[in-house]
Amino acid sequence: MKRSSKSALKPAVKAVAPSRAVVPLRERRLNFGDKWDYAPAPEDHKGYPIAPRHELFIDGKFVKPRARRYFDSINPATEEKLTEIALADERDVAAAVAAARKAYDGVWGKMPARERGKYLFRIARIIQERSRELAVLETIDGGKPIKESRDIDLPLVAAHFFYYAGWADKLKYAFPGRTPRSLGVAGQIIPWNFPLLMAAWKIAPALACGNTVVLKPAETTSITALRLAEIFQQADLPPGVVNIVTGAGETGAALVRHPGVAKIAFTGSTEVGKLIAKTLAERSNNAPRLTLELGGKAANIVFEDAPIDQAIEGIISGIYFNQGHVCCAGSRLFVQEGIHKTVLRKLRDRIQTLRVGNPLDKNTDIGAINSSAQLKKIRSLVKSGEEQGAVVEQTSCRLPAKGYWFPPTMLTRVSPSHRVAQEEIFGPVLSVMTFRTPEEAIERANNTPYGLSAGVWTDKGSKIFKVAQKLRAGVIWANCYNKFDPASPFGGYKESGFGREGGLHGLAAYCRLD
Ligand code: NAP
Ligand code: MG
Repeated sequence: MKRSSKSALKPAVKAVAPSRAVVPLRERRLNFGDKWDYAPAPEDHKGYPIAPRHELFIDGKFVKPRARRYFDSINPATEEKLTEIALADERDVAAAVAAARKAYDGVWGKMPARERGKYLFRIARIIQERSRELAVLETIDGGKPIKESRDIDLPLVAAHFFYYAGWADKLKYAFPGRTPRSLGVAGQIIPWNFPLLMAAWKIAPALACGNTVVLKPAETTSITALRLAEIFQQADLPPGVVNIVTGAGETGAALVRHPGVAKIAFTGSTEVGKLIAKTLAERSNNAPRLTLELGGKAANIVFEDAPIDQAIEGIISGIYFNQGHVCCAGSRLFVQEGIHKTVLRKLRDRIQTLRVGNPLDKNTDIGAINSSAQLKKIRSLVKSGEEQGAVVEQTSCRLPAKGYWFPPTMLTRVSPSHRVAQEEIFGPVLSVMTFRTPEEAIERANNTPYGLSAGVWTDKGSKIFKVAQKLRAGVIWANCYNKFDPASPFGGYKESGFGREGGLHGLAAYCRLD
């Protein structure tokens, strides 16, 4: 760390415009954000050029979209155009499904399982070899800090391929006494918050079980999915086993409607998830199987007997990891009354040290918001919090002038009926509330339409089990938060969707069990 009188970011920064009810977090004597700076440490990205145009990946080849339409993909940290991405229409989706069917009938569906496993191991190893390149591109295209894409996303992506590679020839041990059979062509639609990780969650188990795939990445983050297509070519994966159709919501909708798809796996917003469920419910026969991984509004519950400093770190990573673009983010903090003041004081100090800025800088904690539309949504929800009586506390950090940024924010005096306590914000915004008894904590935590995840912080193991049993959430972390492993299932209750991904449960979603 070096002392610099002139911040490296200074030429391109403006202070966060303080609004009336915004209380800037107290300046600390050592305010790293302003007075002490780390020297800039940007990851070198020059060795990973991005082609000016990206085509669709169908039947093992990169092909132009039938309508010759393209859309721009931009860097959310600079607003610079990175490349043009092909916009697939219904005809392109049909070509991709036909290629996937041909590969299923001709090669993949009848290939001995141990051979399928070898391809998955090969893909996993190439991902590891090219992980720096993939991490840099993930950060440039999506805005997440390089230290997250490099140290969390990419290792998990490779781990998912390794994990499911291992299962490919052991499916009958996964389901003793049953005969697992593949389903056919899987249509998979993913969001922008973990572009490669969501692709890995979906592609790896589908292929391990002998299915072929048509994947639709999110509009704002297609670049790394197309690099993954290059990796499939490099691994000699037979043509048509995985097809990637980039495009808009309509591209995803065309995939959902296609009669040749045997399974739809969707991760995204509750709103689109409901639309998909409705579309499929209207198809009386030949409807594909469906799994939905949707939004969340997780409760992070801190009891008086919790290890407080450890909990502070968990709260911080629970909400500010990936700019809060995390479906399972601990966006509602419930603190037991006796430690409320202490926790708030420690949180204020800790939030003030978070570094917001260039996502490619290795010291950055909070990168860019993924798109201007998402930034608008975060701003409007925080404004609603202010209007409904919450106090908005924000750091006094400086934000770059260009790009989409939102400072780490904490909302206090939040009441359970406020929109910020009920609706998913999907940004770096924490809503803080209190409780007195474990029963009250459980009741408040469950008081939301969602049920994806939760956190419990306490010194007592018995309390963890007692509380966890009553929380209506698919994933519950105890004395930690946002920990992922390919072997553990992930999925929600209520409006957070149904079906599980990861672990054995993730395999079951891609098999017929006779
Ligand atoms: P989204 O708007 O629902 O989009 C998700 C995907 O669906 C994108 O690829 C999108 O394409 C596509 N899509 C849009 N309209 C469609 C339609 N009518 N039919 C079929 N596909 C359609 O969600 P998002 O804003 O990208 O992602 C944020 C949401 O995902 C949050 O609510 C978050 O909680 C949720 N999420 C959940 C999990 C989980 O595991 N439960 C994990 C990550 C994220 P375009 O990009 O082209 O619009
Ligand atoms: Mg982008």
